Amino acid sequence: MTGPLLGFNTSSMSEPLSLPAQILRDLIRCPSVTPEEGGALDVLQERLERLGFAVERRTSSAPNTPDVENLYARLGTESPNLCFAGHTDVVPVGDEAAWSAPPFGAEVRDGFMYGRGAVDMKGGIACFIAAVEERLAAGKDATGSISLLITGDEEGPAINGTRAVLEWLAEKGEVIDVCVLGEPTNPDMMGDAIKIGRRGSISGEILVHGVQGHAAYPHLADNASRGATAIAHVLMAEPYDEGTNDFQPTNLEVTSIDLDNPAFNVVPAKARLCFNVRFNDTYTADSMKAEIERRCALGAANTDLRPGRDPVKFEIEYQARPSHVFLTRDEALVDALSVAVSDVTGRKAELSTGGGTSDGRFIKDVCPVAEFGLVGQTMHQVDERVALEDLETLTAIYDRFIDTYFERAASS
Ligand SMILES: [Zn+2]
Repeated sequence: MTGPLLGFNTSSMSEPLSLPAQILRDLIRCPSVTPEEGGALDVLQERLERLGFAVERRTSSAPNTPDVENLYARLGTESPNLCFAGHTDVVPVGDEAAWSAPPFGAEVRDGFMYGRGAVDMKGGIACFIAAVEERLAAGKDATGSISLLITGDEEGPAINGTRAVLEWLAEKGEVIDVCVLGEPTNPDMMGDAIKIGRRGSISGEILVHGVQGHAAYPHLADNASRGATAIAHVLMAEPYDEGTNDFQPTNLEVTSIDLDNPAFNVVPAKARLCFNVRFNDTYTADSMKAEIERRCALGAANTDLRPGRDPVKFEIEYQARPSHVFLTRDEALVDALSVAVSDVTGRKAELSTGGGTSDGRFIKDVCPVAEFGLVGQTMHQVDERVALEDLETLTAIYDRFIDTYFERAASS
C-alpha cells in the first residue's frame, strides 16, 4: 500500500517490538506451509541453543506422505519434564491478493502483527520461548526440565509429526511428565478457555450399489440414489447422544453425495456418500464405527424409497486412522494453567472440549496434556493476525504457569 498519504512505514513509527513479537516476526518470515520446514526450525534451533537447550532435529518418513522435519529441545536433565508442544507448519495462504499485508511479511499495523501462522500457532511458540528466555534472564530457576516438541506436520496428514516424535522419544527413553499445547484456544479474548480435551473424529465413504437401467423402466433397475438417500437419512436423523458433562453431542455430517451420472434418462448404479463424525466420550473409535455400521444397515433395509426390495448392498471404507477422543483429568496441570490465566488476566477460563482435533490426541497417550494459546478468531483466514498485546499476555501466562507447575511439583 503506497501513496502520498499512506506511504509512511507504520512499523518504524510504533514502539520497539516486544521479545515474543520479535520471535514471532522471525517465524512468520519463514514460509513453512506444510510440509515445508521453510527455515522455521532453523530459527528455533538457533534461539534455543543460545539459551542452553539441547536441540535435536529429525526427519520422519512414511509411505504415501511427504517427509517432515521435527524438533525436540530440552533444557535441564532433572524431572519433572514440562513440555511445550506446537507446530511451525501453517496452512496455505489462500487468495494472496485478498490479504492486506504480505502473508509472510510480519507487518505490524495498528497494534497487530499480520501473517500466516500469527495465531495458529507460531505466536504460541514465540510466547513460550520468550517466557523461558525472560525467566533465564531474570535468573529464575526451574526445579525440573523444560522442553519443546515442535512438529512440521500438524496441519497436514499428521503421520510424520507429533506421533513420530513421540515414538522417537520413547525409543531413546525420554520421559515427558506434563505437556501444554499452544494451539489458539481462546474464542474472543485472552483468558476465555483452556482446552482439556477434544472430540474424536472419523471420516469415511460409503459405496451404495444399485442396478443401472432406463429411467422409463425403473422396475428393471435399482436406483442407487434411493438406497443412498435412506442411508444418509439414518446417519443424520436421530441424535447419537445428548452430549456428556465434558463434551458437546456427537454429530455426523454427510459431506458429499455423488452419483457421477451425466445422463438424465439413466438410472445410476452407484452412489458414493462421504461423511465425518465428531464423537464424544460416549464412544470409542470402535464403538462409533459399530454404530455407523448399524445405522447403515438400517438405512439399507428401509423400504420407503425401495418398496418390496431386498436391503441395498453397501460398503464402508474408513479414512486412514481415526482421531481418538481425549479428556485430561490431571488436576495439577489444569489447575496450574487456570491459576496462571486468572493471575495474569483476572479471568476464570472455561474448561472446554470444543472445536476440531489437535495433536493432544497423540500426546495424551504419553502424559497429561492441556491446551492454551492465543485468540483463534483469524486462524486459517486471510489476514491472519495477532494483537501485540496478546503476545505479551500469553508470555506472562506461560511464565506464571511454569512457576506454578514447578512450585507444586516440588511440594508434592
Ligand atoms: Zn494449529
